[in-house]
Amino acid sequence: MARSRAASGATTTFARLRAQHPDAHCELDHHDPFTLLVSVVLSAQTTDVAVNQTTPQLFARWPTAAALATADVAEVEMALNRIGMFRQKARNIVALSRDLVDRHHGQVPRTLEELVALPGVGRKTANVVLGVAFDDPAGVVVDTHVLRLAQRLGWTNRDEPEGVERDLMALFPRDQWDLLGHTIIFHGRRVCTARKPACAACTVNDVCPSAYRADDVGRKPPRARRK
Ligand code: SF4
Repeated sequence: MARSRAASGATTTFARLRAQHPDAHCELDHHDPFTLLVSVVLSAQTTDVAVNQTTPQLFARWPTAAALATADVAEVEMALNRIGMFRQKARNIVALSRDLVDRHHGQVPRTLEELVALPGVGRKTANVVLGVAFDDPAGVVVDTHVLRLAQRLGWTNRDEPEGVERDLMALFPRDQWDLLGHTIIFHGRRVCTARKPACAACTVNDVCPSAYRADDVGRKPPRARRK
């Protein structure tokens, strides 16, 4: 089936963004699917840098699901106390470790349905794990950067992550979904930032419908921006 003009235009734009960010990859340090899964859970509303500063000590003490499943939640809280929502995240990573031990032989499952059934794991986290750890994405990772850039680049008109993900899955072939997420996140962090998109330095400013007027496209409304 012939690809639509929109899809081929999006693919061309993506190829140019890939050329601008050839090193795009998951920036969360990890050793295996378990440490990746925990790191992604910890990264909610927290920078990857802050997570990477916390996880070496965490995984030195509790390196596997079996170890973390038996941990005292209060001690895990202390290990996480420099990142946001650390109490809730401590409860979640201990509970998900128990689930991995009880229902998955201590291993990280390889399906979206099984992953999203784990405590603290949503579709975005599951997509990161499936794409990065298993090279088998079930969808496109839609975080705040991907949502904002998909809107700015004219790849979606939607506001909710699930709808944006569906639009991206329709525009791009499956074998591009994983790298699409990493590349767009790199671009969102380094060039097309929420407050000050650097359109003059952007490799796709000749085709982006929001170029030089993107400040209010894809940003959260003012009330949601408050910390
Ligand atoms: S031209 Fe500007 S708004 Fe468009 S993707 Fe590039 S930095 Fe973002």
